[in-house]
Amino acid sequence: MNILGFPRIGEKRELKKALESFWSKKTSEEELLKVAKSLRTLHWSYQKNFPFVVVNDFSLYDNMLDLSYMLGAIPKRFANLNGLELYFAMARGNGSNVACEMTKWFNTNYHFVVPELSKNDIYQVNAEKIANEYNEAKSLGYNPKISLIGLFTYLGLAKTNDDSDKEYIFPKLKAAYLELIKKLTTLGEEITIEFHEPIFVKGQNPFFSKIKEVYNAIAELGIRVIVSTYFEASNEATKILVETDIEGLGLDFIYGENNLTSLKLIADAGKKLYAGLIDGRNIWVANLDSKLNILDRISIIVPKDLIHISTSCSLLHVPFSKDSETKLDSEILSWLSFAKEKIGELELLESLFRHGITESNKDLYKQNQEVNATRKNSNKIHDIKVQQRTQSLQVTTRTKSFKERIKIQRQELGYPNLATTTIGSFPQTVELRTLRQKYKKGEIDTNTYENGIKDYIKDCIAFQEEVGLDVLVHGEPERNDMVEYFGEQMKGFVFSQNGWVQSYGSRCVKPPIIYGDTSRPNAMTVRWSSFAQSLSKKIVKGMLTGPVTILNWSFVRDDLPRHEVCKQLSLCIADEISDLQNAGIKIIQVDEAAFKEGYPLRKENIKEYETWALECFKISSSVAKPSTQIHTHMCYSEFNDIMKTIEAMDADVISIETARSGNELLKIFKQVGYANEVGPGVYDIHSPRIPSADEMYKQIKLLLEVLPKEQLWINPDCGLKTRKWEEVKPSLNNMINAVKKVRSEI
Ligand code: GLN
Ligand code: ZN
Repeated sequence: MNILGFPRIGEKRELKKALESFWSKKTSEEELLKVAKSLRTLHWSYQKNFPFVVVNDFSLYDNMLDLSYMLGAIPKRFANLNGLELYFAMARGNGSNVACEMTKWFNTNYHFVVPELSKNDIYQVNAEKIANEYNEAKSLGYNPKISLIGLFTYLGLAKTNDDSDKEYIFPKLKAAYLELIKKLTTLGEEITIEFHEPIFVKGQNPFFSKIKEVYNAIAELGIRVIVSTYFEASNEATKILVETDIEGLGLDFIYGENNLTSLKLIADAGKKLYAGLIDGRNIWVANLDSKLNILDRISIIVPKDLIHISTSCSLLHVPFSKDSETKLDSEILSWLSFAKEKIGELELLESLFRHGITESNKDLYKQNQEVNATRKNSNKIHDIKVQQRTQSLQVTTRTKSFKERIKIQRQELGYPNLATTTIGSFPQTVELRTLRQKYKKGEIDTNTYENGIKDYIKDCIAFQEEVGLDVLVHGEPERNDMVEYFGEQMKGFVFSQNGWVQSYGSRCVKPPIIYGDTSRPNAMTVRWSSFAQSLSKKIVKGMLTGPVTILNWSFVRDDLPRHEVCKQLSLCIADEISDLQNAGIKIIQVDEAAFKEGYPLRKENIKEYETWALECFKISSSVAKPSTQIHTHMCYSEFNDIMKTIEAMDADVISIETARSGNELLKIFKQVGYANEVGPGVYDIHSPRIPSADEMYKQIKLLLEVLPKEQLWINPDCGLKTRKWEEVKPSLNNMINAVKKVRSEI
């Protein structure tokens, strides 16, 4: 049995709290490290029946950042710092030094800190973090397995600062990486390291020719090497890995069924197979019968004693445990399995696989079969009306072309060039959170709650008018989360109380659970948008989350194809757009922050996803009249390979994340001749730093080198909900001043 990692944020988000308290200087480093240690101790205790407990899956912020730190791959601007100060500065920025970029970990909603490498780097290796955790586990009597991001994945996801090419950096980085491993060999007799190489699932890359030399060199140091891939099949890399001196391979059989075609290679090479069969990314109770079937297929080819049943990836991507869920419908709850429960499933599957049905496993096995049978047949998940509506659905396009629409919109809406706006949310203050919580708990009545929300909206509109933004927003005070808010108002969704999953650093999300057919009984946002609009002569944007994002940020039922679930969602959003425009809302933003992360990792599967995801966005947005301006927002996306699809989405305005990557991103829009309007983020909201007017002025000038003023909007790079008013007010003020200065010059 094997897991690739356990969630580290803590059952009650203890790590989040400890981090935030440390960052705000309320607690000491020592106190933070104490919490971290107690979390590791607890998490290992769940793995006590496993041959190994995982070490170094823990992180105070992110594992990629940990590795950069351990290799001493430190961007120059942080060179004068050290210790935790350095570590958190790279993650969050400090003073005038911007943080390292963050981006999504493959097709998940987890963000890692992107390594910044340069040909002039001098690496200084430090293995202390791993050594500490290793010794900690040892002293508790466990047998540790070190989890480490593989060199190829690390380098593959890194960016280079100064056009240095990765080929050039490789030998030096490899040397540092090997030095790190060498240091680990001193920790004990037989060190096992599981190398995470998810990059291999993307197929061939220029570094494939180096896989052999690297993993042989590592094995030669006396390390027992497991190389694991996940989120897709990795047959190309497997072909090479079986010829190296590694001990085993970890393969994902949930999202990478094609891995089954590699079994013979593995068996012939006599390698151990860590078979990823328990879904590390979704939350449904495993169907153990179907797992046993796959295991039967596998064990025809691979000897049973070489098979180790494993999770498909780290459990980082699922919530901690369903122990504390007291409010969920008990039937639906019985269908769920979070990290802790998955460990139980692994143990049960292991026992069934090795020993068949026995006295000690027969009850649990029967229970598993029953849960799967009731879920399949439950009338909770089927809604005939929804099914009929999606079946008769025609995919639609907006009635007029962008050229015609934008003329009408410019006339009707009258906004200036370089129009300023925000992405939607404003700071979620403690008072605001308390207000929502009290209402949820029934401690205050609807009136008090709604007055509180209205007050926030009033203040928010007043501030935006005062600072001089062109297109306003209501600030999203009623939403704790951009997906949860919608899911809560739709049928077919349930919400856990405590099902937190780490998104980045201390930030967690609580993904909704789509368990059945979805529909929208009532308007979801019209009231607040109309109220906000009634307060101002300026245009207030309506704010929705798009169907693809709702899908990609939810735990999705696995009994219906994803595109069918998405279609149902796109009809819900279409209905909402229709209600908003009927209520007089003239600009509607449909956030598709997670459009990109749903992309399949392998080229051959992309077309299919693009087709249905695009269709779903259009089913929603084509309800808009030509005069209704549709905005969309996408964050942390690399647009290079999806430009055609972005274009085909045909949003009138798209706002994107660029603040951390200069105007590189925009150049791609230019290259493909993107004609619709674009709002590239001019400042990074993921850091508490307040950008100066001068800095944003320069940024805007850079943008103008690429696209004409008529096509550009000016906005922050994402919603402001995680920031404080003290940061937002001066930042937006500076942004407006920067725009004014630019306008005065052109
Ligand atoms: N409208 C949302 C907000 O401002 C968008 C956030 C996002 O895309 N991540 O919070
Ligand atoms: Zn965003």
